[in-house]
This record gives sequence, C-alpha cells and structure tokens, in this order.
Amino acid sequence: MKTKRLRKGLTLRLILSLLVLATVFLTAAVSGYAAYQANLKSLSASYLVNNSQYAQKLSSNTGNLLNLMQTSMNSIAQLAGKQSFTEKDLDMWFTFNRQYFNSVFVADDEREIKVTLPADAGVVAGTRLLSEASKRAVESKTPFISEPYVSTTGRLIVLVSSPIFNGDGSYAGFVGGTIYLEEENALSKLLKEHFYGNGSYVYVVDKESRLIFHPNKERIYQTISSNEVIQKALAGKNGSQKIVNSEGNEFFAGYAFEPISGWGIVSQTPTRVLEEPLEQMISNLLMQALPLLGVVLTVAWWLASWITRPLYTLARYSEESAVHGNLTVPASPSIHSGLYEVRQLYQSINSNLNRLKAESLTDGLTGLANRKAFDLLIAEWAERKVPFTLILMDVDHFKKVNDLHGHLIGDEVLKYLALTIDAFSREEDLCFRYGGEEFGILLKGCDLGRATRIAERLREKVERSKSPIAQPLTVSIGVSFSYSRDTDVKTIIEMADNALYQSKTDGRNRITIYS
Ligand code: GH3
Ligand code: MG
Ligand code: MG
Repeated sequence: MKTKRLRKGLTLRLILSLLVLATVFLTAAVSGYAAYQANLKSLSASYLVNNSQYAQKLSSNTGNLLNLMQTSMNSIAQLAGKQSFTEKDLDMWFTFNRQYFNSVFVADDEREIKVTLPADAGVVAGTRLLSEASKRAVESKTPFISEPYVSTTGRLIVLVSSPIFNGDGSYAGFVGGTIYLEEENALSKLLKEHFYGNGSYVYVVDKESRLIFHPNKERIYQTISSNEVIQKALAGKNGSQKIVNSEGNEFFAGYAFEPISGWGIVSQTPTRVLEEPLEQMISNLLMQALPLLGVVLTVAWWLASWITRPLYTLARYSEESAVHGNLTVPASPSIHSGLYEVRQLYQSINSNLNRLKAESLTDGLTGLANRKAFDLLIAEWAERKVPFTLILMDVDHFKKVNDLHGHLIGDEVLKYLALTIDAFSREEDLCFRYGGEEFGILLKGCDLGRATRIAERLREKVERSKSPIAQPLTVSIGVSFSYSRDTDVKTIIEMADNALYQSKTDGRNRITIYS
C-alpha cells in the first residue's frame, strides 16, 4: 500500500516561533507606546508649568523694576522742588539711573521742557510736550507710569513721571523718565534676555493687546486680539495652556498679568521640542530592551523547540512508516518528552504500527507467519549469506477434505496442521503458510541429517495424529538447501518445489531431498 506523501507546508515549530515572535514584538510595541504616551504627557505638563512659572516670575520682576523706577523718579522730583536744584543734580541722578531710563527731563506746568538729558535724546529745552502722557502728568499731578506710546521722535516709549511741588506746596511741573522699549535698558533687558535657544520666547502686550515686546521687531505695536492666552492674561489671570499661533505652530504657553503696568506677559515653547527627547527615549528604550528581547526570544525559541521537536520527530516517523508500507517500519525514534500529549501519541502510533506490522506478516487463518514474512526472511538470509534449509509441505488430496467435509472443516484441518508444524521449529527457524494448504519451515543451517529427520518426523506425526476429520491425513514434503552461496532465492524455492512434486509423483506421503 502506498500513501501519498504530504506536502510539508507549515510546521508547528514555525508557527509557534512566529507566535512567540509576534507576541514579544507586540508586547514591546505596546509597552513602548505606553511609555511614549506617558512621557509625552509628563513632558507636556512640565513645559506648561515651566512657562507659566516663568511668565509669573517675569511679571513679578517687571513689577519690582517699575516700582523701583517710580520710587527713583519720585526722589528726583522731590529734589527738583527745592530752590537749590541745578542741572548738575539732574546729571548726577541720571548717571546713577542710566541703566533704567533712556532719557530724563524736567517740564514745567505748561509742559515746556526745562532741562533734558542726554543731549542726543532728540528733544531740546524749550520744546513743548504734546503727548497724552504729558497732558495726564500736569492734569493729575500724581506719579504714574504711562501706557506705551509712540513719541514725536518715533520711538515706542513708556513714560515714568512724578510731579514737582515747590517748598510752598504749589505745583511746578513734573520730572519724566522715558524707557525706549526697543532699545537697551533694564526693562528691555529683563524681558528680552530670556530666550532658551529651543525656540522658546517671551512677548508682552499692553492693556490694548498691542505687542510691546516681541523677538520679531516687525510685529511690535501690532494689535493681537484673537489670542486666547493674551485675553486671559489681560483679564488678570495667570496660567498655562497649549495654543496654536498665527502661523499654525503649536506652543506650550504660560501667561501672567502684571498689575502695575496692566501688561500681559506670555512665555511659550514650541511643542516640537518634545520630538527630540521622545525620539531619544524610544531609542534608549530599544537599546535597553533589545538584550532582554534577545533573551526572551532565545528562551521562547528553546521552549518552542522543546515542545515541537518530539512532535516533529513523531510526525516524520509516522510519515516514513506510511511511505514505506507496513513491512519495513523504520526503527521507532527515541522520544523523551515531558508532554503528556506527545507521550500518548508516541505510544499509540508505536503500538499501532507494531500491531500493523505484526498483522501484515501473519497468516490470518492459522496464525503462522505468512508468505510475506517468509519472502522477507529468506531474502534477508540469502543477502547475509546465512546457510539454511527449506522444507515445503503440501497436504495430500486436500480437495477431497473440502469436498467431503466442507470448507469450514477444511479450515480447521489447516489450523490443526499449523499447530503440528509449529512444534517442529526452533526459536531461530520460521514456520509459515506458503499459501492454500501448503506450509513450510525455514531452518537455519544446512544440516542434511537434521533436515531429513525433521521432515520425516513431521510426515510421520501428521500421518499418525488424529485430525479434525477423524480420517488419516498425509502430507508430501520437499527439501532443498542453500549450499551454494551464489544460489538465488528463486532457485532454492524451485528446488524445494521440485522435490515436493517428486514426492507427489512418487505416491505421496513421503519426503524428497533435492539433490
Ligand atoms: P494433491 O495431493 O495433488 O495436492 O491434491 P489436492 O487436492 O491437495 O490438490 P491441490 O493441492 O491442488 O489442492 C488445493 C486445495 O486446497 C484447493 C483448495 O480448495 C483448497 N484450499 C486452498 N486454500 C484453502 C483454505 O484456505 N481453506 C480451505 N478449506 N481449503 C483451501
Ligand atoms: Mg496444493
Ligand atoms: Mg494438496
């Protein structure tokens, strides 16, 4: 029987390995993604907090600075109210306050400039001031810090002013210090110095939502009304949030309100700063996880092999057995598996194969070895040059047994004969049913005396024994030897057959040794 060889296709081992591989990589990907998300969240939160704190710090520093400048301005105003005040005093004061103010002037109650410093400020003594701020100074007669405005000289300035009262308490004008927002001074330094180099920057708006500080000079004095964080800062709030600027870029923005000036201060960092640390994190994670992943994969691979190797061996064994047919079952492989399923399968396959093998070599009726078993053994002995003797035996007039007693009784007679013959063989010999009512014994060794004795005793035994049909039964026997090492199996069988034929023609119930 030939079994079609199966295409090997996917093996369990491959599938298990792929499964393990997929599991490991999916797990790594999922945990990597989770770590990425967690990091993204915490980094975002920290950028928001940092910007918010920074905006508040700037707001409080700006407030302190403005206070300081107002106090300083008040002190020179007081001095200016005294009789003894000269241009020299103003000069001295300005020397100490240059870092805060870009220019300083004294104006009378008609807003006419009396003295001004430095000389190159662009305004000269005798000029009448026209700005809203100067008007407010003479009208309110109180110290104040003005809104940013564009001066006659075209500069964006803030005026810090303080009233001058004479010794008798009468109003005499005011002292004004100007801060050029776009030029060097303590305030612009404070607000502009703080760029981190990662794209972060600070900008400041006045009460009217006009930009008064911005790294991009072109945007100074533009009104920005649609910006959410500016609106919140100008409403007096401090805080942080993500925003998208006018160019569509996303930022972490912190905002704060400065109460003295009424300005809103925003510090913001582009969200793209997260890309690099997150990429770094992923690559770190990979670098750290790779050796571990390697270990996991090795262990998993080993485990998969441990499970599948015996199964694979078993599958090969069963495949080969099927291909070879039942006669030459390959040696059963040694399988030492701790797996119940494997052990159970191995036992079943093995016992079934052995049973099949045994069945295929046994004659169903008599239980003796069959023709196949005989063919195999005689071929093997011939191949191995083992000397042997072949005894062939045929029942005399067996047709009559069948005719007289029926086939069932005929079968009984065959079984009885099988038992009788079996008693004549040794462990290393083979008793077999050659076919029909012909039997044989394959004897190891070419001992003529022994072969003759056995054949003769067998013939006598059948003749004398009581058969199932209670009538005398006889057999004719032919014997041949594998004398010549070159004699082939076919010839030896023919020789025994011829000897048997000789016994028949000589009158049956006798033995013939082929010579
Ligand atoms: P001879 O002395 O010449 O051998 O005469 P014979 O009648 O025995 O002739 P032959 O050997 O040619 O006949 C064999 C008979 O054996 C024919 C067949 O009916 C019978 N036979 C063969 N196999 C079986 C079997 O399995 N059971 C039974 N009952 N009969 C069988
Ligand atoms: Mg016959
Ligand atoms: Mg016969």
